[in-house]
Amino acid sequence: MRASRVAASYGARVAVAESGRFGGTCVNVGCIPKKLFAYAAHYREDFAVAKSFGWTLGEPKFDWRTLVVNKDREIARLNGVYEGALTQAGAKILRGRARLVDAHTVEVNGARHSARHILVATGAWPQVPQIPGRELAITSNEAFFLEQLPRRALVVGGGYIALEFASIFNGLGVETTLAYRGPRLLRGFDADLGERIAEEMKKKGVDIRLQCNPAKLERGIKVVYEDGSAQQVDLVMCATGRKPNTAALGLENAGAQLAADGAVVVDEYSKSSVNSIHAIGDVTNRLNLTPVATAEGMALAKTLFRGEPTPVDHVNVPTAVFSDPNLAAVGLSEAAARKRHGQIDVYRTAFRALKLTLGGHEERTFMKLVVDAASQRVVGAHMIGPDAGEIIQGVAIAVKLGATKAQFDATVGIHPTAAEEFVTMRERAS
Ligand SMILES: Cc1cc2nc3c(=O)[nH]c(=O)nc-3n(C[C@H](O)[C@H](O)[C@H](O)COP(=O)(O)OP(=O)(O)OC[C@H]3O[C@@H](n4cnc5c(N)ncnc54)[C@H](O)[C@@H]3O)c2cc1C
Repeated sequence: MRASRVAASYGARVAVAESGRFGGTCVNVGCIPKKLFAYAAHYREDFAVAKSFGWTLGEPKFDWRTLVVNKDREIARLNGVYEGALTQAGAKILRGRARLVDAHTVEVNGARHSARHILVATGAWPQVPQIPGRELAITSNEAFFLEQLPRRALVVGGGYIALEFASIFNGLGVETTLAYRGPRLLRGFDADLGERIAEEMKKKGVDIRLQCNPAKLERGIKVVYEDGSAQQVDLVMCATGRKPNTAALGLENAGAQLAADGAVVVDEYSKSSVNSIHAIGDVTNRLNLTPVATAEGMALAKTLFRGEPTPVDHVNVPTAVFSDPNLAAVGLSEAAARKRHGQIDVYRTAFRALKLTLGGHEERTFMKLVVDAASQRVVGAHMIGPDAGEIIQGVAIAVKLGATKAQFDATVGIHPTAAEEFVTMRERAS
């Protein structure tokens, strides 16, 4: 979408082949419907908090069908907006599955189209582990369209999609288990975040089982774990990784090099091993986030059609997990910073959000700054708590610009907020 629109605005003649619905994973089965579901799930707690502020409510009831129907209506609207934007930009739309014939030719529905440049932006697809009974499990793709909510659900995985869906199911009243084969959730994030989010989610009722992996699924659904224990559930959702969509795409016909996981191998300008073929987004398996894919698309349009070679900057990309509570981070984890900079200063704070004090809720907000001791630059900011994504987005600007801890300290806070803690952390934790 973004690469096409920007390229067209620079004067390129563009055609887009799309076999699914406009907007891709993010709009249809990713970020957008996921966040709508996360909002829905959080109401359970909001109702409880409201009581502590004096509100009297009837017994809240949740209707899954209403949520799904309203979500589908909004997504259909967005599909139209996206398709309209492409048409308006002057792009020609080819509806159907595309396949490369050679380095300059793409076939869609039997018709061949030639182009000076071909851009592969086919995304990725969820993978289910090769265990007996795997056909009984669903993935996030299907979770958005369930006919009804299960009574008991098992979510398998320890990455952000697993945490988000475990929180969604739990918030909507499903008895939820999260099983992850590793020792800590959210590999790649700061260790404090991985450990603390598990504690927070447990407090809210999610049964979190670490170093626990299903060995097989039997009709019913009975989950048999590798340690021999078993559990009865009504739904198993695997959030166990995604694979780049390059199978049967014909890239080998064009001679483009693929990595072992199927990702298109590209350079910093998103160029594949073939000069006329570029690839961006999840199909390159670099940093699989929507804003990164769109940034790659814009950079490529500049490179190819505005004569401004623009490499993609993947440094200090902020990211959020819309679990309950939310979590977000930018920059280096403590461990990564120690490895890169040697000597580092760490600042931490944990507290109960003001909004939760009247009802005696247990959730703790957590914030952490990681500072390079030599330069005093803040190289990592991490948070668990309400609106973590909204807060870290602002902090990310400072981290991207290389702000020092003293500059954070010189910034006056907005009181009373949680975010002000990021500019008032004075005590070094280590
Ligand atoms: C459950 C979930 C939640 C997510 N949440 C977030 C989030 O909160 N924030 C965030 O930043 N990212 C999130 N992501 C990741 C984000 O969705 C992806 O990084 C982003 O969509 C990648 O964009 P893309 O253009 O590379 O691929 P996609 O969005 O996957 O688009 C690929 C498109 O190509 C089409 N296609 C594939 N093969 C062909 C073919 N042969 N011919 C024609 N068309 C084809 C597909 O139909 C699809 O429309 C989430 C992902 C998932 C699964």
